[in-house]
Amino acid sequence: MTVQPIRLFGDPVLRTPAESVVDFDAELRKLVADLTDTMLEQSGAGLAAPQLGVGLRVFTFDVDDVVGHLINPVLEFPDEEEEEGPEGCLSIPGLYFDTKRRLNVVAKGFNEYGDPMQIVGTGLMARCVQHETDHLDGVLFLDRLDPKGRKEAMKAIRQAEWYDQGAPPVIKVSPHAAVSPFGLGG
Ligand SMILES: [Zn+2]
Repeated sequence: MTVQPIRLFGDPVLRTPAESVVDFDAELRKLVADLTDTMLEQSGAGLAAPQLGVGLRVFTFDVDDVVGHLINPVLEFPDEEEEEGPEGCLSIPGLYFDTKRRLNVVAKGFNEYGDPMQIVGTGLMARCVQHETDHLDGVLFLDRLDPKGRKEAMKAIRQAEWYDQGAPPVIKVSPHAAVSPFGLGG
């Protein structure tokens, strides 16, 4: 059980749909433990495996003092009700934006031993389950904002101190000076 580094916005793993879990083995249980430890250490409401760089359909949650996990989740919505509320993400640290979500959700899946389980969630739990399941599809909560909100969010992200500006890596050829590709003949 170890706290692992969380992948941040811009990391391609966050945009890659995760694979279904097939083997409910010790390795999977270690992943669940790592997700749980990291989520608790970061005081997150939830954490999905891609946020630790693992492309498997697993997430953990900590909502209203209920800590748990769900594997291979499938969501059902019992009604049409929606709720707008502040939402954040450990992969987009420090930024919160009002996001519209379904108010009620039933999430069916499995526990780490492969036993079927379901979460019947409302409010914050429903929001968490939708947010984490989105992660497993390579979707971020920014994608759920309206165009204006998304534009504001992207601006805030580009200004965030953790955000990698995406500059190409500099390759030093010589410790003294950069070598010009046209200057080698002299
Ligand atoms: Zn997130």
